[in-house]
Amino acid sequence: MNIRETLIQKATNVRPQAYAPYSNFAVGAALITHDGEIFTGVNFENASFGLTICAERNAIGTMVTAAQKSIKALAVATENGVSPCGACRQVMVEFAIDDYPIYIVNTTTGAVQETSVQQMLPLGFDSSQLPRDNG
Ligand SMILES: [Zn+2]
Repeated sequence: MNIRETLIQKATNVRPQAYAPYSNFAVGAALITHDGEIFTGVNFENASFGLTICAERNAIGTMVTAAQKSIKALAVATENGVSPCGACRQVMVEFAIDDYPIYIVNTTTGAVQETSVQQMLPLGFDSSQLPRDNG
């Protein structure tokens, strides 16, 4: 199985682990690093709604916990194929060495929309825009 199919399958398979008692909107995500390690995540909500964590950022946090910092590809699976939120797009850019593919999976129809991190956040803010010399 190639990377695309592996990530689609893992994002789809992890999705039922989501903790989404308020929205009933389960999301699964899977990413692979340049070292070939795969990490998954699900969304988890909170009674204080603003504390909800998206599946994509959960997977990325797990990646960082394992001392990995470069995403090679990422898949996100929902029942209707929605695309990642703005907060997740910004976090995805933080761990991009190069542009990388994003697979957006509709688990109801099986349709997969392929895009990329740069397409999803054109002109995104990154560390190259931080001031280099403050002295
Ligand atoms: Zn998000």
